[in-house]
Amino acid sequence: MADISRLVMSHNVCPLCATLSIDGEVCGRCQKNPPYIDRLWVSYYYEEPIKTLLHHWKFRGQVDLSHCLQHLLLMRTPSFLLENNFDAVIAMPMSSKRLLEHGFHHTLELTYPVVKQQQINLFNVSHITREHRIAQSQLKRKERLSNLKNCFAVHTEVEGKNFLLIDDVVTTGASFNELAKTLKKQGAIKIYAWALAGQNRQFKH
Ligand SMILES: [Zn+2]
Repeated sequence: MADISRLVMSHNVCPLCATLSIDGEVCGRCQKNPPYIDRLWVSYYYEEPIKTLLHHWKFRGQVDLSHCLQHLLLMRTPSFLLENNFDAVIAMPMSSKRLLEHGFHHTLELTYPVVKQQQINLFNVSHITREHRIAQSQLKRKERLSNLKNCFAVHTEVEGKNFLLIDDVVTTGASFNELAKTLKKQGAIKIYAWALAGQNRQFKH
């Protein structure tokens, strides 16, 4: 764990998609096609050893790694936490099939310590359902964007509210955006997103 500091994501990234940008300005792609999320914060690059930790945690049932990953997440909190009043934190919802496969709700595990530390309400995960689709990791960028279309359904009042979404890994941002789109369609105002890890340094749109 000693070399984790080299994975801390650069500050010179686009605030909407976290790809490298000059002086941290909104990148050309986001200026052209603004995403539904209002801010994206990624704590670390998706590189070793985080990559392997996440794999063992999610796919090999090593639930005890939760503590380590929670700790890493809280070591790199978004600067926007200070400026915003969130009505609730939403753990990226999983389909019931995926939940059975993993055996635990991994994004919820990451969300608990944020709720406790920041004293923000926890959004009841049962209020959003997610239709099962092919795992995003098996798809190319274009397919990832269309794969999630209309996969979320929100079953509670969200009008006029601001939310913080939490996920373990962000690649194209398709899951965050689809969920933000669904929430905004139902009247939510600001949607900020926070992922533990995201694209590697070579990642380009
Ligand atoms: Zn961008």
